[in-house]
Amino acid sequence: MVLTDKCGRPLLNLRISITQRCNLRCDYCHKEGEEITSCSRGTTEEMTVEEIIRITRIAISLGIARVKLTGGEPLMRKDLCEIVKGIAAIPGLKDLSMTTNGTILGFQARELRICGLRRVNISLPTLNAETYTKLTKGKIENVLEGVKAAVEAGFYPVKLNMVILNGVNVDSVSEMMDFARQTGTILQMIELDPVNVDNAYFSVYHKFLDAHEEMLNQKALKVETRRFMQNRLIFHLPKVTVEVVHPIENGEFCAHCTRLRVTSEGKLKTCLMRNDNLVDVLAPMRQGASDEELKALFIDANHLREPYNKRRQGTSNQQLPREGNASSTDFEFNVLR
Ligand code: SAM
Repeated sequence: MVLTDKCGRPLLNLRISITQRCNLRCDYCHKEGEEITSCSRGTTEEMTVEEIIRITRIAISLGIARVKLTGGEPLMRKDLCEIVKGIAAIPGLKDLSMTTNGTILGFQARELRICGLRRVNISLPTLNAETYTKLTKGKIENVLEGVKAAVEAGFYPVKLNMVILNGVNVDSVSEMMDFARQTGTILQMIELDPVNVDNAYFSVYHKFLDAHEEMLNQKALKVETRRFMQNRLIFHLPKVTVEVVHPIENGEFCAHCTRLRVTSEGKLKTCLMRNDNLVDVLAPMRQGASDEELKALFIDANHLREPYNKRRQGTSNQQLPREGNASSTDFEFNVLR
């Protein structure tokens, strides 16, 4: 069974923030769209391992098969391996991944792989040490060590999440592509979201990715879309793959969104952009709710899902081939050329 929302979008992915704590302070961070609360200041309890596993088990029983751990920085949790092990053992799970800043991954990559984590996305906005520190307040050598450890531990694929910032790293894309080629990773270029950053910051640093996409389209040997991942475009260039994520101005992103989020405070969140229709599962769980009652809360949250960007569908990337002339290859990918 797979749940679909009122617009017919299937619910296939769960993105769980397991903490709001982070060891970096990235200027551009959207904090997964969460309002910053006492949890981030460490004054309320985070979800326990058992609570995270139970919420995920309920989600998987409703047809969600792909789970991503996020935060905050997931590696800040000392019990991360237990979380991973517990989720990896749930029957019906097809994919378990994590997005991380990678700075303390070097120490833990192998153990996490053994516990059942399958793949990782590592945030890497630049290869320039000074720029990296300016943007994140961290040290680039730590994240580069994390990338190396992730590849050596056998995570596959390892993706490098590069949020594109106007005037900062727009011209570093080919250098990042070279790095991805050398390390056997995939480059994921991400358009800046106007979430948890102020308008002034967004207007200075936001850059549309259409020109990059056009360049990639010309160089690519093959182009695909990930149908159940917001129809994002994947460009296969010689010896390197580049994915492009540009949600806000692209109605395709919303039209093909298959996600539900769980906030670090145990609330189901239907959209990165919204906090006005959260559904609390943690409080009822702590008050003794049964699995059936928790399932009903998931079904309620699914009914609340709707494309945020309904009016702007199809306004971006129209120069590129899209689904109409695609030949369907499998459940997830459409080959465009
Ligand atoms: N600390 C972890 C990390 O760095 O991956 C997980 C949290 S971070 C919020 C998750 C992802 O969101 C990262 O890949 C990051 O690059 C991306 N991200 C953060 N702020 C963003 C923004 N304003 N727009 C688009 N993507 C953003």
